[in-house]
Amino acid sequence: MITLASKKNCTGCMNCMNSCNTGAVSMTKDSLDNLYPQINSSKCIECGSCVRACPELSQANLNSPIKCYAAYSTDNNIRWFSASGGGISSVYKLCLLKGYPFTGVQFDIDTMTANHHIGFGEEDIEKFRNSKYTYSFMNSICMDILEQTKKQIICFVGLPCQVAALKRFAATHHIDNNRLFFVDLICHGVPSHEYLKEHIKKTVHAKSIEAITFRDSDYMTSKFVLSVKHDGGKKYSKFVESDDNYQIGYHNATIYRPNCYQCQYAKAERVGDITFGDFSGFGKIAPFEGNVQNEKSQGISCIIVNTQRGQEWVNEMIDNNLLKCFERPLDEALRYEQQLNRPSLKSEYRAGFEQLYPKNGFTATCNKIFKKEKIIRPVKHVIKRCAKFVLRRK
Ligand SMILES: Cc1cc2nc3c(=O)[nH]c(=O)nc-3n(C[C@H](O)[C@H](O)[C@H](O)COP(=O)(O)OP(=O)(O)OC[C@H]3O[C@@H](n4cnc5c(N)ncnc54)[C@H](O)[C@@H]3O)c2cc1C
Repeated sequence: MITLASKKNCTGCMNCMNSCNTGAVSMTKDSLDNLYPQINSSKCIECGSCVRACPELSQANLNSPIKCYAAYSTDNNIRWFSASGGGISSVYKLCLLKGYPFTGVQFDIDTMTANHHIGFGEEDIEKFRNSKYTYSFMNSICMDILEQTKKQIICFVGLPCQVAALKRFAATHHIDNNRLFFVDLICHGVPSHEYLKEHIKKTVHAKSIEAITFRDSDYMTSKFVLSVKHDGGKKYSKFVESDDNYQIGYHNATIYRPNCYQCQYAKAERVGDITFGDFSGFGKIAPFEGNVQNEKSQGISCIIVNTQRGQEWVNEMIDNNLLKCFERPLDEALRYEQQLNRPSLKSEYRAGFEQLYPKNGFTATCNKIFKKEKIIRPVKHVIKRCAKFVLRRK
């Protein structure tokens, strides 16, 4: 009898499905619309390939952080249009210089899903740019990477659980780890793709969707603004502080996959050679010669170097003028970035969400559970802004 990771731990990486030689494993949605593997017993020969490929059943080696930088792309345009400082684009550009392919996540408007792909050129860098705050499908990316490693090194960028999945896939498919360079992103959780799909369908009422962004640079790059461009230039935009169901559910940790609430990678030790994230603690421990607020508003990435190889790549990005870096105390990242210490905590609304979603769907459920939140949030925001204004005048 084959036993895969429990629903509490499964990250939906699809390694089990992709490692099965008899096609016995498929991914199916549960009542909360998260994807989990299902084994067809009539096809299963109990060879155990799926179990061996599961990253949650065999823990990945983690690296202790060595150094921390505040960093941004030397290309102002990239810096502005990226989620934080555009440092990931610098990694991709270094790959181009080295002649290596790289991976990233692209949003597919037709299916309203985020999917991992291999990139080979400048045009792919643009498609991968910016964070898509939703579950991303790994699909066949590990197998595609396996093919690439036969020819050259490839750089994988993904969430920590996805890096762990690739590492496990590499171990079970005899891929030489030296052929892989791993970049992990600090992550606070991913919701099912179905939530975003329903949310946009029911709130935007668009005939055609042209683009979706979760951090709209038209407002300010560090602002979490969910924007949907639709119907020939119209735009639906909702700030993180607004009454938008997706923004509320995502940012208050109500709607993530169950495994995100016990994520084993939400800690200081990292699965990647380098880690990228936002830098909320920038300037909080050691003085910075420039203007912290100014740099933050233009976009700052936090880079944590976890291996010697990671340090070499950062040095190469600096030497090739792709990245501007300022070394910072490690504690500025570790102390202030919650997901470097522990997984996201379930919000007070989570139990209601789990209970109501299967029958009511995303919009009706959120309208019910977030009634109070929709009043409190904007008020809290105004108070916070007023307090900041007063403090600044003092
Ligand atoms: C789901 C998610 C949650 C995050 N949570 C946090 C957090 O709590 N704290 C924090 O400090 N930082 C978090 N980040 C990281 C942050 O949003 C930026 O991605 C990071 O700072 C790098 O920004 P950048 O400007 O260098 O790159 P950008 O150009 O903005 O690049 C974004 C990179 O993320 C990849 N990516 C985008 N969406 C996904 C996805 N759904 N799944 C996997 N990879 C994806 C892209 O392929 C690209 O490589 C999160 C990112 C994601 C995707």
